[in-house]
Amino acid sequence: MKRRELIKTAFGLSAGLVGMSALKPLYANTGGMEFRAEPMYDVTPTKVTDKTYYFLAKDPEPSPDNHAFFNNPGFIITSEGVVVIDTGSSVQIGEMVLRQIKTVTDKPVIAVINTHYHGDHFLGNHAFIEQNPKLDIFSHQATIDNIKNGGGEFWVGFMQRSSNNGISGTVITPPNKTVNGGETMKFGDTTIKIHQWGTAHTECDLIVEVVEDKVAFLGDTAMRRVANMADGSFPGTIEAMKKAKALNCDYYIVGHGPHDNVSVCEDMQKFCEVIYGDATKYYDEGLSDFEMKPKIMQQPFMKDVASSWPGYEHTIGKFIAVAVAEVEKNMF
Ligand SMILES: [Zn+2]
Repeated sequence: MKRRELIKTAFGLSAGLVGMSALKPLYANTGGMEFRAEPMYDVTPTKVTDKTYYFLAKDPEPSPDNHAFFNNPGFIITSEGVVVIDTGSSVQIGEMVLRQIKTVTDKPVIAVINTHYHGDHFLGNHAFIEQNPKLDIFSHQATIDNIKNGGGEFWVGFMQRSSNNGISGTVITPPNKTVNGGETMKFGDTTIKIHQWGTAHTECDLIVEVVEDKVAFLGDTAMRRVANMADGSFPGTIEAMKKAKALNCDYYIVGHGPHDNVSVCEDMQKFCEVIYGDATKYYDEGLSDFEMKPKIMQQPFMKDVASSWPGYEHTIGKFIAVAVAEVEKNMF
């Protein structure tokens, strides 16, 4: 690449990151193609309570067939308007979410909350800012920092490869308002509490509690799926699950897979306790991660419960390696 082109490209990428410039036709990391991939097919939202809904993704992984739709965007209907929790992997999915919300309510979207910085949870922001450039999109500051410091480009590339360029046209659109956890937001008749309990799935997960409906949106802190623990913590997730259970909600909506009662928190806690507990024990005995893997897989919870979760076969080894690294780190 010639130097002049390099400068032009670098400028284009950084300009695509911030604020209003997201509306200019800059298509970061989409090969310079200034067109949009075809629209996302409609998914009917699942109603959980009078105020809370989510879009259940049928697949656990992104693919060309599902347009990289593999997580569950959600929304809350308040008397003031709609609050959206996570926006999907692309501008196309964000547009679909907006279309489908209109089939349920004529109230406008008044806020978005991104639970963390993984691309399936925020890349759809583009559609929301395109519709309303002044819309508040909340997240933890560390989410914004991660997206702006390379995370955004990483996730665009990942989704493009996984979906055969099915997210072309998506512009990285970071959140524009920060919360730390501990905030209570009042939207007319609805009280929303934001929780942040340290590192669980990432260092900055937000848990969104809808007080009146006794519903918690857990982001990816809990799931019956074995996918990505690279940014997370086993002891942190165990603690987060204890706190999630203590919210005493009737329903827990997770980032991937169907919603459930408190049992989804119990399963996630048990899963992490088995892996981290055994990793600690076998590390002390001098075993390497691949030597402990078959022993951990013999645990009743793993054989009877976790082995049926999507991703288990391929990814359980990675989870054990992450657990061993965390055991090692916590020894010093
Ligand atoms: Zn995630």
